[in-house]
Amino acid sequence: MIDDNNGQTIAAKAGHFLDVHSGAITPEIQPSTTFARDDRYDLINAANSYSRDCNPTFVHAERTLADLEHGEECLLFSSGMAAIAAIFYTLRPGSHIVVPQAMYWGVKSWLQKHCERADILLSEYDPCCVETIEDAMQGHNHTSIVWVETPNNPYLHVTDIEAAAQIAHANDAMLCVDSTVATPVYTKPLDHGADLVVHSATKYLNGHSDVLCGALVTREDHALWQAVASERQQAGALPGSFDSWLLLRGMRTLYVRVREASSNAMKIAEFLDNHQCVETVWYPGLASHPGHDIAVKQMQGGFGAMLSFAVAGGKEEALHTAGRLQLITSATSLGGVESLIEHRHSIEPEENGIPENLLRLAVGIEHIDDLIADLDAALG
Ligand SMILES: *Cc1c(COP(=O)(O)O)cnc(C)c1O
Repeated sequence: MIDDNNGQTIAAKAGHFLDVHSGAITPEIQPSTTFARDDRYDLINAANSYSRDCNPTFVHAERTLADLEHGEECLLFSSGMAAIAAIFYTLRPGSHIVVPQAMYWGVKSWLQKHCERADILLSEYDPCCVETIEDAMQGHNHTSIVWVETPNNPYLHVTDIEAAAQIAHANDAMLCVDSTVATPVYTKPLDHGADLVVHSATKYLNGHSDVLCGALVTREDHALWQAVASERQQAGALPGSFDSWLLLRGMRTLYVRVREASSNAMKIAEFLDNHQCVETVWYPGLASHPGHDIAVKQMQGGFGAMLSFAVAGGKEEALHTAGRLQLITSATSLGGVESLIEHRHSIEPEENGIPENLLRLAVGIEHIDDLIADLDAALG
């Protein structure tokens, strides 16, 4: 590790090295899927045998992310979902897990299906109130995993990782934190007691909406980690070497991108909060947000670049607002340099109860005046 100024230098130098042969300062992309042996049948480089086991291109990205999260090891996967699935694939039938009531819908929806076929019991807790994790564990012999997503989707609820870790550990469970929205710029969950950090690297880590990738970072090399590593190696949900290289390149600008987007988000949240056509704004940086106090304690130097707001009126007004935006694009996803808006009610099933007038805004790094002018004109 080069420094510990919250990881900014580690990110800026991601994969930087000096190739004494060419003088290159960025690593090469290694596309080879297989690696040769010598006349004694020993591998020419013992680390490289077949790319489903290991490829030198993703080792750079994995080391960088492990250092950024203050973890021991990192594993990259072909998507955030592949990384998350690898954890749950290792659980035995009859296992019990605890997840928040509201969370990234892709994860919840997959978990519901997987738990049913794999005979895993799933209980929910209120992400605004960590004590309810304890309640969710009641009546079960043993809980294997407690899942936290903070700030979560789509309400940006903030969960106290330290308190959640205490409850999980007192009950011999592992605490996994989906830190996609917070990024290592604002929160390092392992420092707050989490055992495993989960990222959709598709989002802020890569930052340019052009790579699907996922990552897990572990505090230490425990049995679950071994099982997850073997799951990746044998089932093969790995990224390609070109994608890993793009991720590494994206991570070099992680801090400047995330700070600029987050500073824009804070200003937009304040603007929307004072707008007569907006009923509610969910952003952890606003003192009125229920998770603000925990966010101040847990998030270092900013509150992230995601927010949601409810347009006065109803579904039609919300859809019209999104439709009238000129600069901000209507599309799913988050974490890219461009701002995106999404009507979550149209995406999630009715029973999730997402308000019909809620718009989720993933703020990018465009000029703040242009973003506010676009929102102002669209809200009319
Ligand atoms: C996008 C996302 C995921 C899933 O990641 P993919 O890379 O799309 O597979 C999981 N959690 C959160 C919070 C996300 O935003």
